[in-house]
Amino acid sequence: MRRLKVSIDRSSGFCWGVVRTIEIAEQELGNQGELYSLGDVIHNPMEIERLRAKGLQTVKVADLKQVRGKTVLIRAHGEPPSTYENAERLGITIIDATCPVVTKVQERIRRFYTDGYQIVIFGKKVHAEVVGLVGQTNGEAIVVHSLDEIDRVALDRKTVLFSQTTMDKPTFYRLKEELQRRVKELVVGSIEDEAIEFHAKDTICGQVSGRDKKIREFVQANDVVIFVAGRASSNGKVLFEIAHEANPRTYFIEQPEELVAEWFASAERVGITGATSTPQWLMEKVKTLIEQKFDSSEQTGTEHQYSHH
Ligand code: SF4
Repeated sequence: MRRLKVSIDRSSGFCWGVVRTIEIAEQELGNQGELYSLGDVIHNPMEIERLRAKGLQTVKVADLKQVRGKTVLIRAHGEPPSTYENAERLGITIIDATCPVVTKVQERIRRFYTDGYQIVIFGKKVHAEVVGLVGQTNGEAIVVHSLDEIDRVALDRKTVLFSQTTMDKPTFYRLKEELQRRVKELVVGSIEDEAIEFHAKDTICGQVSGRDKKIREFVQANDVVIFVAGRASSNGKVLFEIAHEANPRTYFIEQPEELVAEWFASAERVGITGATSTPQWLMEKVKTLIEQKFDSSEQTGTEHQYSHH
């Protein structure tokens, strides 16, 4: 009899935007067997390796010159307008796999910027998606990562707050309230400032934010949780925090080899979940390995029987 009951979180795995990007990449690789992704196509080293075997190579934005005349994939995060311009100059064919959700945010930011708004983006400055968003504003958008950075926002301008699609909602709403409060104070201050407007556009993707609740429920229903994600995935970090808070016996791994036997001590129910960048096949692999190696009720070295559903 097995001691461990290992299950995979049904609501984990790629979000549709990423599924779409990978489908576009694989389709193109089927056509010509050579494709360059501008930055890693997904923040998961294992999936990158799988696609590399099919001919997908990664090139940095700074090294665009090296792929002159080739075909380059723009990943789900999107790119600033300057990338498209440089690619054209270099005779590069662009396969644009920007997630439609991101494209929409880019368009909205561009519209507010053209209308003379100060653009504030809640996100991480170095994140590729944010670089793409800031690019819509000629580099002028102010990126804030926490409430502490709010002082950088000019309060005497009409302002709109957007968010990187993978940020957490509670902080976004705290930022919104804080900005609203300050801008209002200023309006009271002088007649001149009465024209100040403040808008907040919640552009956090439902694929990410909707998962908070589900992941909490999933991890609480298990004794031990293995969270599988690439260490560079920002969505992975957010979700891991949530999972770990709801169940302290949640462990982060990038590869199945990182599993540790002690984690499973006196556990019965083991759950496997991950980021929106975690491939399903990788979680399956983790499941199989746990059942093979860490189910203490089975004798190691004897023959195992595995039931596949
Ligand atoms: S998380 Fe949302 S915005 Fe980001 S790639 Fe997925 S679907 Fe698109």
